[in-house]
Amino acid sequence: MSGAPITRREAARRVAGAGAGLYAAGALPFLSGCSRSADRPNILLIFSDDHAPHAISAYGSRINRTPHIDRLADEGAIFLNSFCTNSICGPSRAVVLTGKHSHINGRLVNGGEPFDMSQWTFTKALQGTGYETAIIGKWHLGVQPEGFDHWEHLPGQGRYYNPDFRTPAGNVRYEGYVTDIIADLSIDWLREGRDPNRPFLLMSQHKAPHRNWMPGPAHLRTYEGEDIPEPETLFDTYENRASPAGQTEMTIAEHMFPAYDLKITPAAADNETDQRFWAAEWDRMNDEQRAAWEAAYGPRNEAFFAAGLEGRDLVRYYYQRYIKDYLRSVASVDDSVGHILDYLDESGLADNTLVIYCSDQGFYLGEHGWYDKRWMYEESLRMPFLVRWPAGIEPGTRVEHMIQNLDYAPTFLELAGVGAPPDVQGESLVGLMGGGHPADWRTSIYYHYYEFPQPHRVARHYGVRTERHKLVYYYATGEWELFDLEADPSEMRNLYGDPANSDTIAELKSELRRLRTLYADTTGEDFAD
Ligand code: CA
Repeated sequence: MSGAPITRREAARRVAGAGAGLYAAGALPFLSGCSRSADRPNILLIFSDDHAPHAISAYGSRINRTPHIDRLADEGAIFLNSFCTNSICGPSRAVVLTGKHSHINGRLVNGGEPFDMSQWTFTKALQGTGYETAIIGKWHLGVQPEGFDHWEHLPGQGRYYNPDFRTPAGNVRYEGYVTDIIADLSIDWLREGRDPNRPFLLMSQHKAPHRNWMPGPAHLRTYEGEDIPEPETLFDTYENRASPAGQTEMTIAEHMFPAYDLKITPAAADNETDQRFWAAEWDRMNDEQRAAWEAAYGPRNEAFFAAGLEGRDLVRYYYQRYIKDYLRSVASVDDSVGHILDYLDESGLADNTLVIYCSDQGFYLGEHGWYDKRWMYEESLRMPFLVRWPAGIEPGTRVEHMIQNLDYAPTFLELAGVGAPPDVQGESLVGLMGGGHPADWRTSIYYHYYEFPQPHRVARHYGVRTERHKLVYYYATGEWELFDLEADPSEMRNLYGDPANSDTIAELKSELRRLRTLYADTTGEDFAD
């Protein structure tokens, strides 16, 4: 970059101006001319797994505090309406890498063929502009990473205790807790692994808080003796919705493994699957880890077996066991964000490093009686997105515009000073980060979920969400759902059958048709107008 360094306020003003439509992609005024310069920001993407925004205090969580993640909102920007395109792990990661919907990048579901690594990804493009690129942690695309100068990733879902990592030199097993290890490896790479003369992209990707929600040693007793508030819809009966909601296998009441999911051990003698799943976790622990675990969980389990709970009391108890372990797993992620932010401060990297915290999708924390994700309902559709960049974002920025994981790739390319290829379907967020209000920003998002029937039996569906409404089509049964998100934020009343909404339905169907055409989605059965 030529000339004297600019102030944070000036940078933010210029970015905001750019966001108002004064620039073409890749031509930000303060970034132009520096596409090969070391002044381009470093990018640190801290990407966790299944961390719903409603378990982050900056998003108003009523069940936990996340002081370190909140720092990003206080010192940077929080995006209040951030959504995924397909609420499941591998597909979300493929959307992030390609900036394209699942039907274009080919990763529709978690299983099946590996991700097509030969296609364009933003990390390959960043490498081409001189960025050094690294991924450490969960990858989950079933193929060896390309487009990274450095990679160490968990095989598949990875393990919470003493995890294996795949590396170019072969498999390595580290002793310890996976979240701490991923943070330590990330800091080690920042400190000693990278070329200090080049800008970097580091994707630091946590396994936590994915199922089976095993807390680390530091948080085995966090929330002991507390009752976490229950969601209002814990005992949802799925009336007034289309039929798929009532046909899932993802309820806390009936579909969790007591030992593997809830850590109620020993597993029942007649539940061989639960025994096997839990044994695989337990067998990996060392003696010290097992002793600490048993000291925390042993007394809880004794009390549980003595209590003889039934019916709603049992569901309430399961909810407490589930949510506390989920939040304990989140607590370690939050701690690790604190450690990385501290390192950025100590090293002097903080000012020109853009730090993002996000997760691959949202999650049900007992809402509708569920755990897991997949649905276009709000809890699993929403993703956290918080970003700090002292050189370019004003502290305390709050962004209401609707964004998707589709948008990350073009954002990173613009930060690197280059435009995205024309077939990338997302839009750069750089203008929004600067507080801009682009007049032509999207006012609706498109969603399409595919993985059926297993696991969890969530019907395939696609839909459109606007600021006020959501229209969802379950094409296997031809059922529709319409929700008024203002009047019914918990989405308990399907308004589709009400003739009073016919104009709204017609508008939303037209918008859904436009989006399917815009994104060239010919998958799933089409609908009649
Ligand atoms: Ca996930």
